[in-house]
Amino acid sequence: MPAENASLVVFCPSGQKGTDCDAAFLANLEKTIAEMVPFSAEGLPTSWSVKIPLEEPNKPNLVNFEHIQASRAGLRRSGHSPGASFENLSITTAGLETANYLRTRARQLNLTDFEVGDESPAGPEGLLTLSQMSTLAEGRLSQVAAQAPGLLLLNSVRPHPFLGIAAATFNLGCGLFDRETKLKLHRHLKPKVDTPLCAGCGSCLAACIFDAISIQGGRATIDHKLCVGCGECLTACHLSGITPDDKTAVAQFQKQLAELAWAAASQSQASQYGGFLYVNFLTRPPKRVSGALSLSKLKPAPKGALISTDPVALDQATIDLLVDDAVHGLRQWSGSVHEPGILMERCQELGLGQCVYTLQVRH
Ligand code: SF4
Ligand code: SF4
Repeated sequence: MPAENASLVVFCPSGQKGTDCDAAFLANLEKTIAEMVPFSAEGLPTSWSVKIPLEEPNKPNLVNFEHIQASRAGLRRSGHSPGASFENLSITTAGLETANYLRTRARQLNLTDFEVGDESPAGPEGLLTLSQMSTLAEGRLSQVAAQAPGLLLLNSVRPHPFLGIAAATFNLGCGLFDRETKLKLHRHLKPKVDTPLCAGCGSCLAACIFDAISIQGGRATIDHKLCVGCGECLTACHLSGITPDDKTAVAQFQKQLAELAWAAASQSQASQYGGFLYVNFLTRPPKRVSGALSLSKLKPAPKGALISTDPVALDQATIDLLVDDAVHGLRQWSGSVHEPGILMERCQELGLGQCVYTLQVRH
C-alpha cells in the first residue's frame, strides 16, 4: 500500500541496450515531464528556465544534449514555454574561465538561449572577486535562478565527497546560488592528508586551483588558510591519501546546504508563480570516484531518469534505487565515507519535502 500523502516519484528507465539516448527513453522522458510540470495557481502557462548541468573543462557531463532537448520539449508539450537554459559557475574552476567555457559548449550544442546564471553585473572581472559576505544568510541566488517564473532542474546523479551523492537537493541548495555563496558553504570543510597512504604523486596538487597543496618531504601538505574545501583533491587522489574531514564540519555543511535549498525554494520567483520540477539522471556510472574504490567491481547503476516536484523524495528514491542495485550500499557506490542523512533530515524538518514516496515506473 502506498503511504498516505507520499510524494510521487516517476522512474523512466532507459533502453535495454544500455544507451541513455534511445528514442523510447527520450519520448518517455518528454511525456512524463509534460504530465508532471506544475501550473501556476491561476492555471496559466509559465515560462520555465531550465538549469542544465553543462560540463566543466575536462569533466564530461552525464546529462547530454538529447536529454536537455527532450526535457524542453516536455515543457512545450505541457503548454509552458521553455525560457533560458542556464548553468551557474562552479567553485572548482576559475570563474571567468568556466563562464567562457560554458558559453562555448552551449554554442557547440546549439543552445542559442543559454545564459551563465551568475554572471556578475560588474562584468567579467566581477566573476572573480569575493566580497566580505560573512554569513550564508546573505547568500545570493544567481540572477537567472532568482527571476525565473518556473524552474526545471536537470541533475546528473554523481558521487560527492561530503554527501555520498549529489542530486536534486544538492543542485537546489548549492547549484542555484552564485559562486561566492558556494565558496562560503564549503569553507569550513578542510580535507586532511593521511601521510602513510600519500605517495607524493602530486595529482591533488594539480587539481587544486587555490594553490593550497604543496609536496613536502615526498608527501602532500594542505595549507588550510588557502583551502576552500571544494573537495577536488579527494577526487584526484587514487590512493585515498586525503580524508574528507571531521564529522562536525560535514554535519554543518549538510545542515547549511539544506537551509540554502529551502531558501532557494521559498525565495525565488518560481515559488510564487510556476514552481519547480526536478529530474535526476542516472545515465552512466562514473568512471572514477573519491578515494581508491573501483566501481568496476559493482553492478552498474540502473539507467534512466527519476522525476518529481519533491526534491527530497526524489533523492531518497534515487538513493534507494542505487542501494538496491549496487547491493553494497551508497557508501560503496560513491566511495565517500559520508552519506546525506543529515541533509535529508534537515530538508524534511524545514518542510522542503519528505522521504516518503510512491515510485511509479513508466516504460
Ligand atoms: S594525490 Fe594522493 S597520493 Fe598523490 S600527492 Fe595527493 S594525497 Fe598524496
Ligand atoms: S586542498 Fe583540496 S579541498 Fe582544499 S581547495 Fe584545494 S582541492 Fe579544494
